[in-house]
Amino acid sequence: MPEKPRMQVRLFKPSVGEEELANLRGVFERAWLGLGPLVTQFENEWSEYIATSNSVGVNSATAALHLALTAYNFPRGSKVLVPAITFASTATAVLYNDLIPVFVDVDPVTLSISLTDMETKITRDCVAVIPVHMGGHPVPMEELIVLAKAHNLVVIEDCAHCAGGLYKGKRLGTWGDIGCFSFEEKKSMTTGDGGMICSDQDALIEPLRANRWVGIDKDTWKRSANYTSPEAMDSRHWHYEIAVLGYKYNMNDVMAAIGLAQLKKLDWMNARRRELIRLYLDGIAGCRYIKPLLPYELKDAAYWLFGVRCEQRDELIVYLKQRGIATSVHFMPLPLHPLFREFDDPIPISTEIWQTFITLPLFPDMTDEEAHYVIEALCEFDAK
Ligand SMILES: *Cc1c(COP(=O)(O)O)cnc(C)c1O
Repeated sequence: MPEKPRMQVRLFKPSVGEEELANLRGVFERAWLGLGPLVTQFENEWSEYIATSNSVGVNSATAALHLALTAYNFPRGSKVLVPAITFASTATAVLYNDLIPVFVDVDPVTLSISLTDMETKITRDCVAVIPVHMGGHPVPMEELIVLAKAHNLVVIEDCAHCAGGLYKGKRLGTWGDIGCFSFEEKKSMTTGDGGMICSDQDALIEPLRANRWVGIDKDTWKRSANYTSPEAMDSRHWHYEIAVLGYKYNMNDVMAAIGLAQLKKLDWMNARRRELIRLYLDGIAGCRYIKPLLPYELKDAAYWLFGVRCEQRDELIVYLKQRGIATSVHFMPLPLHPLFREFDDPIPISTEIWQTFITLPLFPDMTDEEAHYVIEALCEFDAK
């Protein structure tokens, strides 16, 4: 048995405390836990924060991506370009809509969608592209949008890794037609599970409010005021209409209560992650075999992942595990999963480089001491 490690370092950890609890207490006191006024408040504050005109709260980024594509009613069988290296939801959202994912190789440096490979894979039946700001590193959106416009492609940004990030002074999630965010517990900020759909095109995303609420065209919490109101005796408060096949994808007031507190901390959390990444980068600068996963540019950035690349990936993972340091791999290329095998397209770079990826601990409440402990282990491995 190896000796017990000096420390245990988690991979991700949500930063939650008194502020979230205080907001939750308010929800409990009102005893309205479902879709309610706090969801609207969170949507409004989110819209203001990222400077977009409209936001729709949902229960995950998976739901957000699904509904974002639904907004366009693309003909069944149309094609949607997605990067080969991303989380499954970027592509399952395409399948949920009876569309076909076309996997595009990634740029070997930034790990986001390769614009060169994208150009070669665009065909007449392509209708949209879903760029992913991998790990929080921005896709060169001004270039991607030129390419998308030239081919009439809708741009849906998968912002699951970059809440609060800016690119060229403009918030990520506001460059494309629709931006989709994740508030899953491991992501940049959390509501337990949760997501947000954002756009400046109100007419496009306003109908998604019914789509996220089983197709119902009115919010129950607004009607409920009239259930017993003497001024509304003949208001037929119980009436609503269902005109579309919707989903049960709404955010609720428990999530929104947490989200309102998290949003206030988001800039701080992103700044703290930048500080820790700076420690990591300085700490491994002298390593010969271990290199940073991404070309980290820390100004204005909202990086969610810190990782490294190492040819001895599997040995390094075991080495860190023996020292109580949690790791992961983000991500195995999607076409390597059985579900996506039938959509196989050449992605030589992704297939090669993902085998060197290791994700390391990064979360706002991580201490400098913990970061130094991980760095020490990395440098020891590198020196062997
Ligand atoms: C986590 C993630 C999602 C899905 O987010 P959920 O809120 O868990 O549904 C989508 N895309 C990417 C790139 C992700 O990492």
